[in-house]
Amino acid sequence: MAETRGPITLNGTSYRWPARPVVVVCIDGGDPAYFARGLEDGIIPNVKRFMEKGFAATADGTVPSFTCPNNMSIVTGAPAAVHGISGNFYLDRATGKAIVMTGPELLRSSTVMAEFARAGAKVVSITAKDKLRLQLGKGLDAARGNINFSSEKADRCTRAENGIENVLELVGMPLPDMYSAELSLFVLEAGIRILERMRPDMLYLSLTDYIQHKYAPGEAEADRFYRAIDACFGRLAELGAVVALTADHGMNDKSKSDGTPNVIYLQDVLDAEFGPADTKVICPITDYFVGHHGALGGFVRVYCLGGKAKPADVARLARALPGIEGTYEKAAAARKFELPLDREGDVAVISDAGTCIGAAKADHDLSALAGFRLRTHGGVAEARVPFIVSEPLNDAYAQKAAAGRLNSRQIFDFALNGTA
Ligand SMILES: [Zn+2]
Repeated sequence: MAETRGPITLNGTSYRWPARPVVVVCIDGGDPAYFARGLEDGIIPNVKRFMEKGFAATADGTVPSFTCPNNMSIVTGAPAAVHGISGNFYLDRATGKAIVMTGPELLRSSTVMAEFARAGAKVVSITAKDKLRLQLGKGLDAARGNINFSSEKADRCTRAENGIENVLELVGMPLPDMYSAELSLFVLEAGIRILERMRPDMLYLSLTDYIQHKYAPGEAEADRFYRAIDACFGRLAELGAVVALTADHGMNDKSKSDGTPNVIYLQDVLDAEFGPADTKVICPITDYFVGHHGALGGFVRVYCLGGKAKPADVARLARALPGIEGTYEKAAAARKFELPLDREGDVAVISDAGTCIGAAKADHDLSALAGFRLRTHGGVAEARVPFIVSEPLNDAYAQKAAAGRLNSRQIFDFALNGTA
């Protein structure tokens, strides 16, 4: 790492070669409210120090405020209109099938990590959920010493595929459960071990939002998790890294006062008005981790397939429902939120902070909530995220930060170019 090379340019931003390791952490579901509460309660001393001695702001993220689009915005430094990942799912109009958007072939941009790796940097990407692994690792060559794996499948890593093996031994933790705080803690612990032993130039550590879906700021389990991740951030900084923290999205309680989910089943509403099979509601939050949110989120796409309902009719009907904050027809949605037009639905429907939207009631299994209040995300109300750098900003970036609202997709820019 003694060698310093020229800057890397991607999607209009030039990134300086890191003089010391840079660690960017995406705290999945890390709503700014958790840090606010954690500061009040004195449970996140390392984050507090970063905020005081380094830089802290609240930034905008990508809407829809889901995991895949935001992770891709962060690692490409570009909006979804450029990188193409505008949800966890989209509808292929030709086949009528919902397509999961986690395939690397759907990602239309290179990543900051891949560009540095191509230029000879040692790059490490670790994610909690395996679904993100292939896109995050796009362009990372394991044969050249780059590492890319998920804690979910940490027991199956091979040198050829992941650039590392025997990860459970290295980390000293058993394989974590898919629904656990440990799935995230494993990512951070692995990052610490790898930083210690291999001193890569750049690490991207992406966690999972299991805890935030289940526990509000200040609840004992949330506190336990935030104390633990804070300690990990401290150890990363102690090892000499610039540590930059952001989130893919926030999180809101979307339950009624009696504790039951506050849901608009939009497919049922549309079917009652236009008849069955005329429209199709796609919930782009859907993935195979639905236990903690029942595939209910704050943003859905409606496709007008049967010819009876026109987009303007759907928008008008949805907008009149209590709890709906905004409706956007295809072109307006793509323009407003910088989304890829060819992957947009006919109407985007967004709920307010206290409401979520589903397809048909029968499509959502809420049994796994098991008495917990529904906390979820997806809308504009969950698109504000922390933006924290452990080191003070240089003058140019202090000015840049003061000039206007930041976006989480600038986090690599600030971590690499903004520190002394
Ligand atoms: Zn997420």
